[in-house]
Amino acid sequence: MRIRIFAVLLFLLTAIVPLLKAQASAAQGTQQTPAAQEQKTTTNDAGAAYSLPPEKLAKAIAYSRIRVILDFLGSGWGILQLVLLLALGAVARMRDAAVGLSANRWVQGFAFALLLLLTTTLLGLPLDLYAHHAAVEYGQSVQGWASWALDEAKSFLLVFVFGGLLVMLLFWVIRKSPNRWWFWFWIPAMLIVLLSVFIAPVLIDPLFNKFEPLAKSNPALVDRLEQVVTRGGVQIAPERMYLMKASEKVTTLNAYVTGYGASKRVVVWDNTIAKATPDEISFIFGHELGHYVLNHIPATLAFLGLLLLVEFYLGYRGVRWLIARYGKRWGVSSQNDWSALAVLLLVLAVLSFFSEPIINGYSRMHEHEADVYGQEAIHGIVADPQATAQQAFQLLGEISLVDPNPNPFVEFWTFSHPSVASRAAFAARYNPWTPGQRPKFFNK
Ligand SMILES: [Zn+2]
Repeated sequence: MRIRIFAVLLFLLTAIVPLLKAQASAAQGTQQTPAAQEQKTTTNDAGAAYSLPPEKLAKAIAYSRIRVILDFLGSGWGILQLVLLLALGAVARMRDAAVGLSANRWVQGFAFALLLLLTTTLLGLPLDLYAHHAAVEYGQSVQGWASWALDEAKSFLLVFVFGGLLVMLLFWVIRKSPNRWWFWFWIPAMLIVLLSVFIAPVLIDPLFNKFEPLAKSNPALVDRLEQVVTRGGVQIAPERMYLMKASEKVTTLNAYVTGYGASKRVVVWDNTIAKATPDEISFIFGHELGHYVLNHIPATLAFLGLLLLVEFYLGYRGVRWLIARYGKRWGVSSQNDWSALAVLLLVLAVLSFFSEPIINGYSRMHEHEADVYGQEAIHGIVADPQATAQQAFQLLGEISLVDPNPNPFVEFWTFSHPSVASRAAFAARYNPWTPGQRPKFFNK
């Protein structure tokens, strides 16, 4: 959910969507890595670090297939629908309707954004409906349709309001600097991204899920986690540890770090606490702590910021090229024309699709580092860090119906985390406390 909200919020900056995907689902079992590809198990044999009983295996393979198809279909359809809307003159008609409403630019901009957003949302609805249906069917979600629809409506409103403001800003910058807008718009866009990441845990996330201090219901667990924090040599006050009531909507396990500065926090889902042992939760938490200590959020923001700049530049070039070539046919007169927004979104959607493997590869690198950190962080706190970490991955994979043998191309292109099988295998063999070896992030 977190992913979608951001995605929606910044619908104009489609390029940034995969980034937020990457950092939102910290310990999620459903997405995975190739750093450990050498370790990939090719069968579901009982000796593998992560394996499923036959019945679950069949379900996991079927569900993974659905998710992969939805993923690629979603990207393809997102691009195709913009092409169709432009080619069929629908975008030009939306522009005419918006301009006909009023001479006021604010009215025009928001009306056009609303029409375009409404159309693309409706066109994407069948896939969204099917995705939720499948999640319920495969026991991943317990959210009813009314609650689901309400979440969709909230997301829509957020995107409309914030997206509309971004559109106004974009066209203002385009008018002021027709040849350099890609750079001048990038600066406020980055500030908005930074602000969104900062306010999300406080203002956005609570719109979709309930949060409370972890200490309220699980004081013993907080004490336990403070031991891990102390070993990491950092300070995370218990007030920055939150419990999210995920069980109202999903059955899967997760924990994540989010925000920065005053809003920085660690969030553990209630499902995780209900289904994992204190040792396993300590490892999952150690992994999250790794993201925190190793500054993965600022590093990711910087990486994505640079990528976004490149994408804006290519977006600028692409829009000019497309308008010169197809502008007459599509009824898009210039980049100042409201309808040029659809052309820009089209270019960004294509760039976003092709930057997926870059962003996911970068994310998998961080995830692997966090796995190493997590395992080292619980040394001396749990009896057997190797077994604990491996069991945690087994549990994550089993509950999220993770296929033990994902297709390598799918993994390369879409996995923000290493595959669960490779993470479990790494955990099982990683023991830096043997003679001649030393931990990567700790002195002992
Ligand atoms: Zn992570």
